[in-house]
Amino acid sequence: MNDILPGQVARWQEMERVAREVFALYGYREVRTPAVEHYALFARGVGEMTDIVNKEMYVFEDKGEEKLALRPEGTAGTVRAYVEHGCHVEGLQKWYYLGPMFRRERPQKGRYRQFHQIGCEVLGAAQPAIDAEQIAMVDDLFARLGVRATLKLNSVGDPACRPAYLRDLKAYLNAHRDRLCGDCNERIERNPLRVLDCKVEPCQPVLREAPRLLDRLCAPCQEHFDAVKAGLDALGVAYVVDPRLVRGLDYYVRTAYEFTSDALGAQSAVAGGGRYDGLVEILGGPATPGIGFALGQERLALVMEALGREPLERRPVVFLVSADEAGAREALKRAAELRKAGIACDLDPRGGKLKSQFKQAERARARYALVLGGDEVASGKAKLKDMDTREETPVELDGLVGRLGRTP
Ligand code: ATP
Ligand code: MG
Repeated sequence: MNDILPGQVARWQEMERVAREVFALYGYREVRTPAVEHYALFARGVGEMTDIVNKEMYVFEDKGEEKLALRPEGTAGTVRAYVEHGCHVEGLQKWYYLGPMFRRERPQKGRYRQFHQIGCEVLGAAQPAIDAEQIAMVDDLFARLGVRATLKLNSVGDPACRPAYLRDLKAYLNAHRDRLCGDCNERIERNPLRVLDCKVEPCQPVLREAPRLLDRLCAPCQEHFDAVKAGLDALGVAYVVDPRLVRGLDYYVRTAYEFTSDALGAQSAVAGGGRYDGLVEILGGPATPGIGFALGQERLALVMEALGREPLERRPVVFLVSADEAGAREALKRAAELRKAGIACDLDPRGGKLKSQFKQAERARARYALVLGGDEVASGKAKLKDMDTREETPVELDGLVGRLGRTP
Protein backbone atom coordinates (compact mmCIF):
# COMPACT_ATOMS: atom_id res chain seq x y z
CA MET A 1 0.00 0.00 0.00
CA ASN A 2 1.36 3.36 -0.95
CA ASP A 3 1.32 6.92 0.26
CA ILE A 4 0.80 9.43 -2.50
CA LEU A 5 2.68 12.48 -1.31
CA PRO A 6 1.91 16.09 -2.29
CA GLY A 7 4.92 16.03 -4.63
CA GLN A 8 3.35 13.16 -6.61
CA VAL A 9 -0.29 14.02 -6.43
CA ALA A 10 -0.44 16.43 -9.39
CA ARG A 11 -0.23 13.50 -11.78
CA TRP A 12 -3.11 11.77 -10.03
CA GLN A 13 -5.21 14.90 -10.06
CA GLU A 14 -4.51 15.37 -13.74
CA MET A 15 -5.58 11.85 -14.64
CA GLU A 16 -8.73 12.16 -12.57
CA ARG A 17 -9.61 15.57 -13.99
CA VAL A 18 -9.11 14.44 -17.59
CA ALA A 19 -11.02 11.21 -16.94
CA ARG A 20 -14.00 13.10 -15.53
CA GLU A 21 -13.94 15.46 -18.50
CA VAL A 22 -13.79 12.66 -21.06
CA PHE A 23 -16.48 10.58 -19.34
CA ALA A 24 -18.81 13.58 -19.27
CA LEU A 25 -18.21 14.08 -22.99
CA TYR A 26 -19.44 10.52 -23.57
CA GLY A 27 -22.46 10.81 -21.28
CA TYR A 28 -21.18 8.90 -18.24
CA ARG A 29 -22.14 10.03 -14.71
CA GLU A 30 -20.31 9.23 -11.48
CA VAL A 31 -21.46 6.70 -8.91
CA ARG A 32 -19.88 6.29 -5.47
CA THR A 33 -20.32 2.99 -3.68
CA PRO A 34 -18.85 1.68 -0.41
CA ALA A 35 -15.38 0.12 -0.21
CA VAL A 36 -16.85 -2.71 1.87
CA GLU A 37 -19.53 -5.10 0.62
CA HIS A 38 -20.87 -8.51 1.60
CA TYR A 39 -18.45 -11.29 0.76
CA ALA A 40 -21.33 -13.05 -1.00
CA LEU A 41 -21.60 -10.23 -3.55
CA PHE A 42 -18.10 -10.91 -4.84
CA ALA A 43 -18.44 -14.68 -4.53
CA ARG A 44 -21.46 -14.49 -6.83
CA GLY A 45 -20.55 -11.52 -8.99
CA VAL A 46 -16.85 -12.08 -9.53
CA GLY A 47 -16.90 -15.85 -9.12
CA GLU A 48 -15.70 -18.12 -6.34
CA MET A 49 -13.35 -19.84 -8.76
CA THR A 50 -11.45 -16.69 -9.68
CA ASP A 51 -8.09 -15.87 -8.13
CA ILE A 52 -9.53 -12.57 -6.99
CA VAL A 53 -12.14 -14.13 -4.72
CA ASN A 54 -10.37 -17.37 -4.06
CA LYS A 55 -6.96 -16.04 -3.06
CA GLU A 56 -6.77 -12.29 -3.10
CA MET A 57 -9.73 -10.91 -1.19
CA TYR A 58 -9.58 -9.40 2.31
CA VAL A 59 -12.49 -11.03 4.08
CA PHE A 60 -13.55 -10.44 7.66
CA GLU A 61 -16.26 -11.24 10.17
CA ASP A 62 -18.25 -8.42 11.65
CA LYS A 63 -19.56 -9.73 15.00
CA GLY A 64 -22.11 -12.27 13.91
CA GLU A 65 -23.07 -10.40 10.75
CA GLU A 66 -22.69 -11.79 7.27
CA LYS A 67 -19.07 -12.06 6.11
CA LEU A 68 -17.75 -8.81 4.65
CA ALA A 69 -14.96 -8.05 2.20
CA LEU A 70 -12.92 -5.08 1.05
CA ARG A 71 -13.85 -4.62 -2.58
CA PRO A 72 -11.29 -6.14 -4.96
CA GLU A 73 -12.86 -4.44 -7.99
CA GLY A 74 -15.63 -1.99 -8.78
CA THR A 75 -18.06 -3.71 -11.11
CA ALA A 76 -19.83 -5.94 -8.57
CA GLY A 77 -20.59 -3.05 -6.21
CA THR A 78 -21.69 -0.80 -9.06
CA VAL A 79 -24.09 -3.42 -10.38
CA ARG A 80 -25.34 -4.12 -6.84
CA ALA A 81 -26.20 -0.43 -6.50
CA TYR A 82 -27.91 -0.45 -9.90
CA VAL A 83 -30.06 -3.42 -8.89
CA GLU A 84 -30.69 -2.28 -5.31
CA HIS A 85 -32.00 1.11 -6.44
CA GLY A 86 -33.99 -0.23 -9.38
CA CYS A 87 -32.09 1.96 -11.83
CA HIS A 88 -33.08 -0.18 -14.81
CA VAL A 89 -36.43 1.62 -14.91
CA GLU A 90 -34.57 4.75 -15.96
CA GLY A 91 -33.35 3.10 -19.15
CA LEU A 92 -29.76 2.91 -20.32
CA GLN A 93 -27.26 3.89 -17.63
CA LYS A 94 -23.68 5.01 -18.19
CA TRP A 95 -21.78 5.22 -14.92
CA TYR A 96 -18.21 5.73 -13.82
CA TYR A 97 -16.39 5.37 -10.51
CA LEU A 98 -13.01 6.10 -8.99
CA GLY A 99 -11.51 4.66 -5.85
CA PRO A 100 -9.32 2.26 -3.93
CA MET A 101 -9.51 -1.52 -4.46
CA PHE A 102 -7.89 -4.21 -2.33
CA ARG A 103 -6.26 -7.49 -3.28
CA ARG A 104 -3.86 -9.60 -1.26
CA GLU A 105 -1.25 -10.04 -3.96
CA ARG A 106 2.51 -10.33 -3.91
CA PRO A 107 3.51 -6.66 -4.05
CA GLN A 108 5.81 -5.67 -6.92
CA LYS A 109 6.13 -2.79 -9.35
CA GLY A 110 2.64 -2.00 -10.61
CA ARG A 111 1.02 -4.51 -8.27
CA TYR A 112 -0.08 -3.41 -4.82
CA ARG A 113 -2.52 -4.48 -2.12
CA GLN A 114 -4.39 -1.23 -2.09
CA PHE A 115 -4.53 0.23 -5.58
CA HIS A 116 -6.84 2.62 -7.35
CA GLN A 117 -9.09 2.13 -10.31
CA ILE A 118 -11.07 4.38 -12.57
CA GLY A 119 -13.83 2.43 -14.23
CA CYS A 120 -16.93 2.75 -16.38
CA GLU A 121 -20.00 0.61 -16.81
CA VAL A 122 -22.80 0.80 -19.38
CA LEU A 123 -25.91 -1.07 -18.27
CA GLY A 124 -28.76 -1.80 -20.62
CA ALA A 125 -27.24 -1.99 -24.11
CA ALA A 126 -26.21 -5.15 -25.94
CA GLN A 127 -25.35 -3.48 -29.25
CA PRO A 128 -21.77 -3.75 -30.50
CA ALA A 129 -21.80 -0.01 -31.17
CA ILE A 130 -21.61 0.68 -27.43
CA ASP A 131 -18.60 -1.67 -27.13
CA ALA A 132 -16.84 0.29 -29.86
CA GLU A 133 -17.81 3.63 -28.34
CA GLN A 134 -16.52 2.66 -24.90
CA ILE A 135 -13.24 1.28 -26.21
CA ALA A 136 -12.78 4.42 -28.33
CA MET A 137 -13.43 6.51 -25.21
CA VAL A 138 -10.60 4.80 -23.31
CA ASP A 139 -8.37 5.36 -26.33
CA ASP A 140 -9.43 9.02 -26.32
CA LEU A 141 -8.65 9.29 -22.59
CA PHE A 142 -5.14 7.91 -23.08
CA ALA A 143 -4.56 10.23 -26.03
CA ARG A 144 -5.57 13.26 -23.96
CA LEU A 145 -3.16 12.16 -21.23
CA GLY A 146 -0.41 11.84 -23.83
CA VAL A 147 -0.14 8.09 -23.21
CA ARG A 148 0.37 5.61 -26.01
CA ALA A 149 -1.11 2.21 -25.25
CA THR A 150 -1.78 -0.84 -27.39
CA LEU A 151 -5.36 -2.01 -27.64
CA LYS A 152 -5.84 -5.77 -27.62
CA LEU A 153 -9.20 -7.18 -28.56
CA ASN A 154 -10.83 -10.59 -28.36
CA SER A 155 -14.14 -12.34 -28.00
CA VAL A 156 -14.65 -14.86 -25.21
CA GLY A 157 -17.87 -16.18 -26.72
CA ASP A 158 -21.06 -16.73 -24.78
CA PRO A 159 -22.95 -19.58 -23.09
CA ALA A 160 -23.91 -20.88 -26.54
CA CYS A 161 -20.42 -21.43 -27.92
CA ARG A 162 -18.11 -21.39 -24.89
CA PRO A 163 -19.00 -24.64 -23.08
CA ALA A 164 -18.11 -26.92 -26.01
CA TYR A 165 -14.91 -24.98 -26.51
CA LEU A 166 -14.01 -25.22 -22.83
CA ARG A 167 -14.41 -29.00 -22.96
CA ASP A 168 -11.96 -29.20 -25.85
CA LEU A 169 -9.61 -26.73 -24.22
CA LYS A 170 -9.58 -28.74 -20.99
CA ALA A 171 -8.91 -31.95 -22.89
CA TYR A 172 -6.03 -30.28 -24.75
CA LEU A 173 -4.55 -28.78 -21.59
CA ASN A 174 -4.88 -32.06 -19.70
CA ALA A 175 -3.07 -33.83 -22.51
CA HIS A 176 -0.16 -31.40 -22.02
CA ARG A 177 -0.25 -31.13 -18.23
CA ASP A 178 3.40 -32.00 -17.77
CA ARG A 179 4.52 -29.09 -19.95
CA LEU A 180 2.48 -26.54 -17.99
CA CYS A 181 3.39 -24.77 -14.75
CA GLY A 182 1.80 -25.48 -11.36
CA ASP A 183 -0.59 -22.54 -11.59
CA CYS A 184 -1.78 -23.66 -15.01
CA ASN A 185 -2.33 -27.19 -13.77
CA GLU A 186 -4.36 -25.91 -10.90
CA ARG A 187 -6.49 -23.77 -13.21
CA ILE A 188 -7.33 -26.39 -15.83
CA GLU A 189 -10.39 -27.54 -13.91
CA ARG A 190 -11.20 -24.33 -12.04
CA ASN A 191 -10.83 -21.70 -14.74
CA PRO A 192 -9.41 -23.11 -17.97
CA LEU A 193 -9.73 -19.85 -19.96
CA ARG A 194 -7.37 -18.22 -17.49
CA VAL A 195 -4.68 -20.76 -18.37
CA LEU A 196 -4.38 -19.04 -21.77
CA ASP A 197 -3.37 -15.89 -19.90
CA CYS A 198 -0.32 -17.51 -18.25
CA LYS A 199 2.86 -15.51 -18.74
CA VAL A 200 5.32 -18.24 -17.64
CA GLU A 201 7.80 -18.79 -20.49
CA PRO A 202 7.95 -22.64 -20.57
CA CYS A 203 4.11 -22.76 -20.87
CA GLN A 204 4.08 -20.65 -24.03
CA PRO A 205 4.61 -23.34 -26.69
CA VAL A 206 1.65 -25.36 -25.38
CA LEU A 207 -0.55 -22.29 -25.09
CA ARG A 208 0.34 -21.06 -28.58
CA GLU A 209 -0.96 -24.30 -30.07
CA ALA A 210 -4.10 -24.44 -27.91
CA PRO A 211 -7.50 -24.46 -29.65
CA ARG A 212 -8.82 -20.93 -30.17
CA LEU A 213 -12.29 -19.84 -29.18
CA LEU A 214 -12.08 -17.21 -31.90
CA ASP A 215 -12.16 -20.02 -34.47
CA ARG A 216 -15.44 -21.35 -33.18
CA LEU A 217 -17.60 -18.50 -32.10
CA CYS A 218 -21.30 -19.08 -32.71
CA ALA A 219 -22.86 -16.93 -35.44
CA PRO A 220 -24.27 -14.23 -33.12
CA CYS A 221 -20.92 -13.88 -31.29
CA GLN A 222 -19.04 -13.74 -34.60
CA GLU A 223 -21.40 -11.08 -35.87
CA HIS A 224 -20.99 -9.07 -32.68
CA PHE A 225 -17.19 -9.31 -32.85
CA ASP A 226 -17.15 -8.23 -36.51
CA ALA A 227 -19.39 -5.27 -35.71
CA VAL A 228 -17.15 -4.14 -32.82
CA LYS A 229 -14.12 -4.27 -35.12
CA ALA A 230 -15.99 -2.39 -37.85
CA GLY A 231 -17.03 0.23 -35.28
CA LEU A 232 -13.44 0.72 -34.15
CA ASP A 233 -12.27 0.94 -37.76
CA ALA A 234 -14.91 3.60 -38.44
CA LEU A 235 -13.73 5.56 -35.40
CA GLY A 236 -10.09 5.24 -36.44
CA VAL A 237 -9.05 3.26 -33.34
CA ALA A 238 -6.22 0.80 -33.97
CA TYR A 239 -6.33 -2.63 -32.32
CA VAL A 240 -4.62 -5.98 -32.33
CA VAL A 241 -6.75 -9.11 -32.18
CA ASP A 242 -5.32 -11.32 -29.44
CA PRO A 243 -7.00 -14.73 -29.37
CA ARG A 244 -5.44 -15.47 -25.97
CA LEU A 245 -6.77 -12.41 -24.23
CA VAL A 246 -9.22 -13.45 -21.52
CA ARG A 247 -10.63 -11.64 -18.56
CA GLY A 248 -9.98 -13.05 -15.10
CA LEU A 249 -13.64 -12.80 -14.14
CA ASP A 250 -16.32 -15.38 -14.83
CA TYR A 251 -19.10 -13.11 -15.98
CA TYR A 252 -17.51 -11.85 -19.18
CA VAL A 253 -19.06 -12.70 -22.56
CA ARG A 254 -18.11 -11.70 -26.08
CA THR A 255 -16.00 -8.53 -26.11
CA ALA A 256 -12.82 -8.58 -24.02
CA TYR A 257 -10.24 -5.84 -24.31
CA GLU A 258 -7.09 -4.61 -22.70
CA PHE A 259 -4.78 -1.64 -23.10
CA THR A 260 -1.13 -2.41 -22.48
CA SER A 261 1.99 -0.29 -22.34
CA ASP A 262 5.61 -1.20 -22.99
CA ALA A 263 6.63 1.22 -20.28
CA LEU A 264 5.36 -1.14 -17.60
CA GLY A 265 7.44 -4.31 -17.92
CA ALA A 266 5.78 -7.44 -16.55
CA GLN A 267 2.60 -5.77 -15.29
CA SER A 268 1.82 -4.36 -18.72
CA ALA A 269 -1.98 -4.04 -18.52
CA VAL A 270 -3.11 -0.48 -17.83
CA ALA A 271 -6.79 -1.10 -18.40
CA GLY A 272 -9.01 -4.07 -18.97
CA GLY A 273 -12.63 -4.46 -19.79
CA GLY A 274 -15.35 -6.42 -21.43
CA ARG A 275 -18.96 -7.34 -21.79
CA TYR A 276 -20.84 -9.02 -18.93
CA ASP A 277 -24.38 -9.67 -20.13
CA GLY A 278 -25.23 -12.15 -17.35
CA LEU A 279 -24.08 -10.23 -14.32
CA VAL A 280 -27.09 -8.07 -13.48
CA GLU A 281 -29.28 -11.17 -13.41
CA ILE A 282 -26.76 -13.09 -11.29
CA LEU A 283 -27.00 -10.25 -8.77
CA GLY A 284 -30.77 -10.37 -8.61
CA GLY A 285 -31.78 -7.82 -11.23
CA PRO A 286 -33.67 -8.21 -14.49
CA ALA A 287 -31.69 -9.61 -17.43
CA THR A 288 -29.61 -6.60 -18.49
CA PRO A 289 -26.59 -6.49 -20.75
CA GLY A 290 -23.53 -4.58 -19.60
CA ILE A 291 -20.04 -3.60 -20.61
CA GLY A 292 -17.32 -1.97 -18.58
CA PHE A 293 -13.63 -1.49 -17.98
CA ALA A 294 -11.28 -0.48 -15.20
CA LEU A 295 -7.93 1.18 -15.45
CA GLY A 296 -5.23 1.00 -12.81
CA GLN A 297 -4.20 4.45 -11.66
CA GLU A 298 -0.84 3.34 -10.23
CA ARG A 299 0.08 1.80 -13.57
CA LEU A 300 -1.16 4.81 -15.51
CA ALA A 301 0.93 7.03 -13.21
CA LEU A 302 3.98 4.86 -13.97
CA VAL A 303 3.38 5.20 -17.71
CA MET A 304 2.94 8.97 -17.43
CA GLU A 305 6.09 9.16 -15.35
CA ALA A 306 8.04 7.09 -17.88
CA LEU A 307 7.03 9.61 -20.53
CA GLY A 308 8.74 12.21 -18.39
CA ARG A 309 5.96 14.71 -18.74
CA GLU A 310 5.73 16.96 -15.68
CA PRO A 311 2.12 17.48 -14.72
CA LEU A 312 0.95 21.04 -14.36
CA GLU A 313 0.90 22.00 -10.72
CA ARG A 314 -0.80 25.13 -9.53
CA ARG A 315 1.81 27.31 -7.87
CA PRO A 316 1.52 30.64 -6.11
CA VAL A 317 1.51 33.60 -8.46
CA VAL A 318 3.10 35.71 -5.77
CA PHE A 319 4.87 35.08 -2.47
CA LEU A 320 4.52 37.93 0.03
CA VAL A 321 7.71 38.57 1.96
CA SER A 322 7.55 40.77 5.06
CA ALA A 323 10.42 43.01 6.14
CA ASP A 324 8.99 44.07 9.50
CA GLU A 325 5.85 44.05 11.70
CA ALA A 326 3.97 46.56 9.57
CA GLY A 327 4.89 44.57 6.45
CA ALA A 328 3.67 41.32 8.02
CA ARG A 329 0.29 42.89 8.82
CA GLU A 330 0.04 44.29 5.29
CA ALA A 331 0.99 40.91 3.80
CA LEU A 332 -1.88 39.16 5.60
CA LYS A 333 -4.32 41.80 4.37
CA ARG A 334 -3.06 41.73 0.77
CA ALA A 335 -3.01 37.92 0.72
CA ALA A 336 -6.68 37.86 1.68
CA GLU A 337 -7.43 40.38 -1.09
CA LEU A 338 -5.54 38.39 -3.74
CA ARG A 339 -7.11 35.09 -2.73
CA LYS A 340 -10.57 36.61 -2.82
CA ALA A 341 -9.81 37.60 -6.41
CA GLY A 342 -8.79 34.02 -7.21
CA ILE A 343 -5.05 34.70 -7.35
CA ALA A 344 -3.00 32.00 -5.65
CA CYS A 345 -0.51 33.48 -3.22
CA ASP A 346 1.37 32.45 -0.13
CA LEU A 347 3.56 33.82 2.63
CA ASP A 348 5.72 32.43 5.38
CA PRO A 349 3.74 32.68 8.62
CA ARG A 350 6.98 32.33 10.57
CA GLY A 351 8.35 35.61 9.20
CA GLY A 352 12.09 35.71 9.89
CA LYS A 353 14.99 36.83 7.73
CA LEU A 354 14.27 37.99 4.19
CA LYS A 355 16.66 35.36 2.89
CA SER A 356 14.77 32.51 4.54
CA GLN A 357 11.45 33.88 3.30
CA PHE A 358 12.85 34.03 -0.24
CA LYS A 359 14.03 30.44 0.16
CA GLN A 360 10.44 29.50 1.05
CA ALA A 361 9.19 31.43 -2.01
CA GLU A 362 11.54 29.37 -4.18
CA ARG A 363 10.40 26.12 -2.62
CA ALA A 364 6.80 27.10 -3.30
CA ARG A 365 7.88 27.83 -6.90
CA ALA A 366 6.17 31.20 -6.79
CA ARG A 367 6.24 33.24 -9.99
CA TYR A 368 6.85 36.54 -8.19
CA ALA A 369 7.90 37.75 -4.76
CA LEU A 370 6.84 41.03 -3.23
CA VAL A 371 8.64 42.52 -0.24
CA LEU A 372 6.42 44.50 2.14
CA GLY A 373 7.69 46.69 4.98
CA GLY A 374 6.92 49.99 6.71
CA ASP A 375 8.14 52.01 3.68
CA GLU A 376 5.96 50.15 1.21
CA VAL A 377 2.95 50.45 3.50
CA ALA A 378 3.53 54.21 3.83
CA SER A 379 4.05 54.84 0.09
CA GLY A 380 1.52 52.31 -1.19
CA LYS A 381 4.16 51.17 -3.68
CA ALA A 382 6.39 48.05 -3.81
CA LYS A 383 8.63 46.11 -6.15
CA LEU A 384 7.42 42.94 -7.79
CA LYS A 385 10.32 40.58 -8.28
CA ASP A 386 10.20 37.99 -11.05
CA MET A 387 11.59 34.84 -9.41
CA ASP A 388 13.00 33.48 -12.69
CA THR A 389 14.61 36.57 -14.21
CA ARG A 390 15.24 38.42 -10.91
CA GLU A 391 13.87 41.50 -12.66
CA GLU A 392 12.00 44.01 -10.47
CA THR A 393 9.08 46.18 -11.55
CA PRO A 394 7.32 48.81 -9.45
CA VAL A 395 3.67 48.20 -8.59
CA GLU A 396 0.97 50.09 -6.72
CA LEU A 397 -0.29 47.92 -3.82
CA ASP A 398 -3.85 48.89 -4.64
CA GLY A 399 -3.29 47.78 -8.25
CA LEU A 400 -1.91 44.31 -7.29
CA VAL A 401 -5.04 42.35 -8.10
CA GLY A 402 -5.32 43.98 -11.52
CA ARG A 403 -1.64 43.51 -12.26
CA LEU A 404 -1.42 39.85 -11.13
CA GLY A 405 -4.83 38.82 -12.37
CA ARG A 406 -3.40 38.85 -15.89
CA THR A 407 -0.53 36.51 -14.98
CA PRO A 408 -0.84 33.19 -16.78
P1 ATP B 1 -3.31 -8.41 -13.94
O1 ATP B 1 -3.37 -9.42 -15.04
O2 ATP B 1 -2.25 -7.39 -14.16
O3 ATP B 1 -3.30 -9.02 -12.58
P2 ATP B 1 -6.13 -8.12 -13.66
O4 ATP B 1 -6.69 -8.90 -14.77
O5 ATP B 1 -6.11 -8.73 -12.32
O6 ATP B 1 -4.66 -7.60 -14.04
P3 ATP B 1 -8.34 -6.28 -13.61
O7 ATP B 1 -9.03 -7.00 -12.54
O8 ATP B 1 -8.86 -6.34 -14.98
O9 ATP B 1 -6.79 -6.69 -13.59
O10 ATP B 1 -8.15 -4.73 -13.19
C1 ATP B 1 -8.04 -3.69 -14.17
C2 ATP B 1 -6.74 -2.94 -14.01
O11 ATP B 1 -6.48 -2.64 -12.65
C3 ATP B 1 -5.52 -3.70 -14.47
O12 ATP B 1 -5.36 -3.59 -15.86
C4 ATP B 1 -4.42 -2.98 -13.72
O13 ATP B 1 -4.06 -1.78 -14.39
C5 ATP B 1 -5.09 -2.61 -12.42
N1 ATP B 1 -4.73 -3.55 -11.35
C6 ATP B 1 -5.24 -4.78 -11.11
N2 ATP B 1 -4.69 -5.31 -10.01
C7 ATP B 1 -3.80 -4.41 -9.53
C8 ATP B 1 -2.92 -4.37 -8.41
N3 ATP B 1 -2.84 -5.36 -7.54
N4 ATP B 1 -2.15 -3.25 -8.24
C9 ATP B 1 -2.21 -2.22 -9.10
N5 ATP B 1 -3.03 -2.21 -10.18
C10 ATP B 1 -3.82 -3.28 -10.40
MG1 MG C 1 -4.68 -9.78 -11.22
